[in-house]
Amino acid sequence: MAILPIRALPDPVLRQKAKRVRTIDNSVKKLIKDMTETMRADPGRVGLAAPQVGISLRVIVIGIPDEEDIVLINPEIVRRSGERSVTEGCLSVPGYYGEIKRAESVTAKGRDPTGKEIRIKGNGLLAQALEHEIDHLNGVIYIDHLENKEKLHKIEGETTQL
Ligand SMILES: [Zn+2]
Repeated sequence: MAILPIRALPDPVLRQKAKRVRTIDNSVKKLIKDMTETMRADPGRVGLAAPQVGISLRVIVIGIPDEEDIVLINPEIVRRSGERSVTEGCLSVPGYYGEIKRAESVTAKGRDPTGKEIRIKGNGLLAQALEHEIDHLNGVIYIDHLENKEKLHKIEGETTQL
C-alpha cells in the first residue's frame, strides 16, 4: 500500500470525465487500498475520488470519522432530497473552503470491491461526501457550485476536506 500524492487544480485530470471500471482486477483493488490509506493518512480527510490521485476511473472512497470506510465503484446518485447550505473544502483546492448548497439526503448506488451492487443512503456529512466525490468523477469541483466569489474563503485552522 502507498500514500499517494494528491492532485490539485489546475491539474487537467480533475476536469476529465472519469472512465467506468469494467473489471475489478488487481490494479483496481490496489488503487482502492492506496486511496483508502491516502484518505486515512490525515484525520481531516473524509473522502477521495480516483481523479484526485491522478487516476481517471470511477472509484470513490469515503471515511466518515468513527464509521467504516465506504468504497463505491461506478457510483451514481439515484435520489436526492432537501437542500441545505454547507461549508465545503476539497483536498484538490488547498487552502480554501466555500459555502454551497447540497442535498440533505442522498442515495447512491454502485459496486463494492467484490463486485456486488450496493446502495448507500446518507444524510449530513455522508450525503455531502457522496455528492462531492461523485462530482469529481464528472470533472466537477465544489467551487463550480459557488453562487459568487464572496462565498470562497481562505482556511484558518482546521476543516474537513473531501
Ligand atoms: Zn474534492
